[in-house]
Amino acid sequence: MKSKERNEKIVTFIKDQFPGKEFIPLHVPYFGGNEKKYVLDTIDSTFVSSIGAYVDKFEELICQITGCRHAVAIVNGTNAIHLAMIVCGTKPNDEVLTQALTFIATCNAISYTGAKPVFIDVDKDTMGMSPSALSNFLEKNAEKRSDGFTYNKNTGRRISTCLPMHTFGVPLRIDKIAAICSSWNIVLVEDSAESLGSTFNGKHTGTIGKAGAFSFNGNKTVTCGGGGALITNDSELAKKAKHLSTQAKVAHQWEFYHNETGYNYRMPNLNAALACAQLEQLPFFLKNKRELAHRYQAFFAQMGMPTHREMQGSEANYWLNAVILDDLEGRNEFLEFTNANGVMTRPIWQLMNRLPMFNDCEHDGLENSQWLADRVVNIPSSFRP
Ligand SMILES: *Cc1c(COP(=O)(O)O)cnc(C)c1O
Repeated sequence: MKSKERNEKIVTFIKDQFPGKEFIPLHVPYFGGNEKKYVLDTIDSTFVSSIGAYVDKFEELICQITGCRHAVAIVNGTNAIHLAMIVCGTKPNDEVLTQALTFIATCNAISYTGAKPVFIDVDKDTMGMSPSALSNFLEKNAEKRSDGFTYNKNTGRRISTCLPMHTFGVPLRIDKIAAICSSWNIVLVEDSAESLGSTFNGKHTGTIGKAGAFSFNGNKTVTCGGGGALITNDSELAKKAKHLSTQAKVAHQWEFYHNETGYNYRMPNLNAALACAQLEQLPFFLKNKRELAHRYQAFFAQMGMPTHREMQGSEANYWLNAVILDDLEGRNEFLEFTNANGVMTRPIWQLMNRLPMFNDCEHDGLENSQWLADRVVNIPSSFRP
C-alpha cells in the first residue's frame, strides 16, 4: 500500500473512534463525576489552599490505588520527581542514570538537584530503560568503592541514583532494573508520571523503587489542572518529603521556625478536590482506554504497523497510544498528513542529549532510543464517553 493511501485509511479509522468530532485532539480531560461538587465545596469552605480535607483524601486515594504505604500531595509531577530524589539522597555533583528518550521534566528534575544525568538506552518494546544497557554501562564505566557507593571511573563522580521512566504508561522491565541497582547500591526512583494505573507483575508502577512520582497535569490520564504525588513505602522518607514540601516549617501553634531550606511544593486543596473526583473514575478511565488500545492494536496489526504495548505480566494504563512508522521520512509524512486532516498526532520526544542543556552529558550508544525517536508517533487516546 502506498503511504498516502495508508495514511488516509488511518485517519478514517481514528476519526471513526471519535464520532461526531471535526478535530480529534491527542488527549483531553473528561469531567464526568463529582468534579464540580468537590471544587465548589473547597470554595464554600474557604479551604482552597495547601491545607484541607481533599489534600488528605487525595493522599489516601493514591495509597489505595497504588498499594503504597505513603503518598505526599505535590504541586506538580516535575517537583514530585525533584523531591523524591532529594529525600532518596541525590546530591549535587552526583550522577543520575536515566533515559535520553523521555520528557524534559525527568531531566529538569535531575538538574534541580545539582546532579548530572547520564543517558542509558531503552528497550525497543517497552520504550523504557533497558536492563542490559544499564548493566553494560555499569560494568564498563563504574566501580564500587570502599565507602560502599558506586563511582563513574571516567568522571570520578558518584552514581547515586537511577531514574527510569515508564513511557506512555507502559511498564518497563523494572524488576531487572531494581536488581541491578541493588547490586551496585544505587537508589532507584521511578518517574511514573505517565503510568498511574499501570502495574508490573501485580505491583503498581512507582512502588518498586524507593520512591515514585506521578503527574496530574492537564494531558495525563487523571488531571487536576496541575498536580503531582510522591509515593514511598518508607515512612521516614514520606515524613521528610512532606516537611520539605511545606517550607520545612516545624509544627507550632504560632512560631515560624524552619529547620532547613524547604520548598513550596504542596498541592492546594482546590486542585486536590478536582483530583479526588477524577481518581474516583480511574477504573472507568482505564477500562475505556484499554478498549481503545485494543482496537488500535488490531487495526495497526492489519496494516502491518507495530504498536507500543504492554509486556506479558504487566498492565499498561494506555495513557497515550503510539504507532511505529517505517523511517523518519515516513514518520514526517504521517505527521503532516494526520495533522492537516483533523487528527492530532505528535512525534515522541527528541533525545535529551541533543538539547543544549544536556549535550555534554555522558551516554551509551542509544541505538534503540534513536531508532524510536525517528519512528514513534502518538495518536489520539482520550477517554471516549
Ligand atoms: C508529565 C510528565 C512529568 C511532569 O509532570 P508535570 O506535572 O507536568 O510537572 C514528568 N515526567 C514525565 C515523563 C511526564 O510525562
